[in-house]
Amino acid sequence: MFITFEGIDGSGKSTQAQRLADHLRAAGHDVVLTREPGGSPGAEEIRALVLEGPTDRWSAETELLLFTAARRDHLERTIAPALAAGKVVICDRFVDSTRVYQGLTRGDLRGAVETLHAALIRREADLTFLIDIPAETGLARARARAGAEARFESFGRAMQAEMRAGFLDLARQAPDRIRVIDGDAPPAEVAERVAALAQAALEP
Ligand code: C5P
Repeated sequence: MFITFEGIDGSGKSTQAQRLADHLRAAGHDVVLTREPGGSPGAEEIRALVLEGPTDRWSAETELLLFTAARRDHLERTIAPALAAGKVVICDRFVDSTRVYQGLTRGDLRGAVETLHAALIRREADLTFLIDIPAETGLARARARAGAEARFESFGRAMQAEMRAGFLDLARQAPDRIRVIDGDAPPAEVAERVAALAQAALEP
């Protein structure tokens, strides 16, 4: 089963992905926890290319191609082999992030995102947790975090709100796949809710 976590910066999705991996491993599942951009040696190199350096280093279109190239490598080298071996793959961000970030934030590239996805990726998650928080909460948490990837955290409140709306729109379009989880609840409660839904999907 392929499970993804999505949400705006500071949503707590990485913490929740880790907690779900711990929970499922304790329940006896063979779990691969991975992330995007990155998740394979080549894709991690591309991650450095897109996240380091000046924001205007790549045009919006080139950035979309780089994210798609990274996803293709990640899928070939990490995700597909693990799924074929019967493992549970938990991925921190996947194509929904590209639909929102590359699709909406630097002009409307949604058509190009879907064209590239349909041609070269095709795989959707079986289950996606959208960890939903207000834009202000995400900004405050992201700003409190230090790190080399701070360039993305310079998005203003309006942009964060737009991205949150973009994720919620996707959830409305794919209600069977995407479960919206209130990320403002205490982390342990969020983890319990996520674990219960994942367990139900794994052992119907
Ligand atoms: O999820 P994580 O914090 O590792 O993401 C690193 C940065 O890359 C974030 O600031 C996120 O906004 C950005 N990103 C992006 N487009 C994607 C995935 C992540 O701009 N498709």
